[in-house]
Amino acid sequence: MNLDWISPAERLKSLPPYVFARLDELKARAREQGLDLIDLGMGNPDGATPQPVVEAAIGALQNPAHHGYPPFEGTASFRSAITSWYKRRYEVELDPDSEALPLLGSKEGLGHLALAYINPGDLILVPSPAYPAHFRGPAIAGGEVHTLVLKAENDWLIDLAAIPEDVAKLAKILYFNYPSNPTCATAPREFFTEIVAFARRHEILLVHDLAYAELAFDGYQPTSLLEIPGGKEIGVEFHTMSKTYNMAGWRIGFVVGNSQIIQGLRTLKTNLDYGVFAALQVAAETALGLPDSYLEEVRERYRTRRDFLIQGLAELGWDVPKTKATMYLWVPCPPGVGSTDFALDVLQRTGVVVTPGNAFGAAGEGYVRISLIAECDRLGGSPGTAQTS
Ligand SMILES: *Cc1c(COP(=O)(O)O)cnc(C)c1O
Repeated sequence: MNLDWISPAERLKSLPPYVFARLDELKARAREQGLDLIDLGMGNPDGATPQPVVEAAIGALQNPAHHGYPPFEGTASFRSAITSWYKRRYEVELDPDSEALPLLGSKEGLGHLALAYINPGDLILVPSPAYPAHFRGPAIAGGEVHTLVLKAENDWLIDLAAIPEDVAKLAKILYFNYPSNPTCATAPREFFTEIVAFARRHEILLVHDLAYAELAFDGYQPTSLLEIPGGKEIGVEFHTMSKTYNMAGWRIGFVVGNSQIIQGLRTLKTNLDYGVFAALQVAAETALGLPDSYLEEVRERYRTRRDFLIQGLAELGWDVPKTKATMYLWVPCPPGVGSTDFALDVLQRTGVVVTPGNAFGAAGEGYVRISLIAECDRLGGSPGTAQTS
């Protein structure tokens, strides 16, 4: 039966076209042609989940107490593991009952926060380039996105002074993310102090995505919004288990911060989902309790790949500054070549998949993002095997 009498909701129509679609198609074709693809396109960690976490999950799976619906607000045990981790990591005190909420991955929480707080027409400040959930969530909710264009010459930091007064006055929420996916930029502590002052002055809710809390190198320590005086009063911060602990497939993360905002998100989620499988919360709790030596190992893996790739690119005459954090490189395309064309050209000529910068918003044009998700011996393989047209 042809359903031409029904059309999707306006909110679905508001979603921009998916830049990865063409790339996926070409990837499939390259594979059919026998090209040995090295996929550095996704932000999908290639490592295994740490063994103690897997074992904790297996044990928890055997316990029938975990087989029913989990508590809506997450298990008390995981929530207190989150707040203990926060205390240890940032010296920030949080109330496990009202200031921490487990999520089905941070992407889920980011999207639902938009539905919980954005009315059609509300003005929302979102940087470009940015992690897509930061602008898709507000778009789905019908919000009006005011783009904060980030620039290389400003170290990809949000230029708060450039936000027009009338825009700042109307804005309801500001999304931001340092260390940043895709730009790899980090923000100094003073930037966090300034953004908190800005948000308080204009009564704007801050939504900070700290997905790369632990993936930082050369002694750099990413800042939590909640460490900044006043940060917790005006904002929330999203965390994921996906990157640090190689748990992307498990779908678990959490949000911490202002209790009123977390309550709103919890109320919405109570009507949409039942929260995270309790056995996975046991696993995540175990991950948060892993010794620092695990974190050092993970950082070392990405640092080695970063240095290897930067050196290889330098040998090709391509100067990429050392990134202080994340699991990516953000690399300018050759002058005059568009992101999509360049990514397709690299794919066809070498079998290496990179993500065109415009997938992260128009301001990502002119760059590609390379994920550090393959071992150096794979990254250093001779491109001679690759060929097409
Ligand atoms: C990977 C990533 C996420 C997604 O995390 P999940 O918990 O797996 O949903 C969120 N934000 C940023 C910036 C990311 O890079």
